[in-house]
Amino acid sequence: MIRYSCDLCKRDLDPEHDLRYVVKIEVYAAFDPTTDGEEDDRDHLEEIQDILERLEDSDSDQVGDDVYQQLRFDLCPECRKKFARNPLAREAAKVFDFSSN
Ligand SMILES: [Zn+2]
Repeated sequence: MIRYSCDLCKRDLDPEHDLRYVVKIEVYAAFDPTTDGEEDDRDHLEEIQDILERLEDSDSDQVGDDVYQQLRFDLCPECRKKFARNPLAREAAKVFDFSSN
C-alpha cells in the first residue's frame, strides 16, 4: 500500500481516515504579446505550445526549468487550509495581523 505524507508538516496520511489534497503548481514563462499590430494571443499561445512540445521531446530535466516547471505536493487538510489562505507564502504576520488575539 502506498503511504503518503504531508509535504508541509510531514505527518503521515492515513488513506482510510485522512483526506489528502494534491497541489499542482505550474510555473511558466509568460510571453507578452508583441505590439506589432498583427500579432494576437493565438501567436504566443502557439509559442508556448512549441516550447512545451520541445520539453516533452527532451529527456533532460534541466532544460527549461526557468521556462516551464511543474510542482506537485501532497497536503493534509490542515496544511491545505494554510496553503489556500496564503499560496505564495507571503509574510503571514502582516496579512493576518488584524485577526490575532
Ligand atoms: Zn500537513
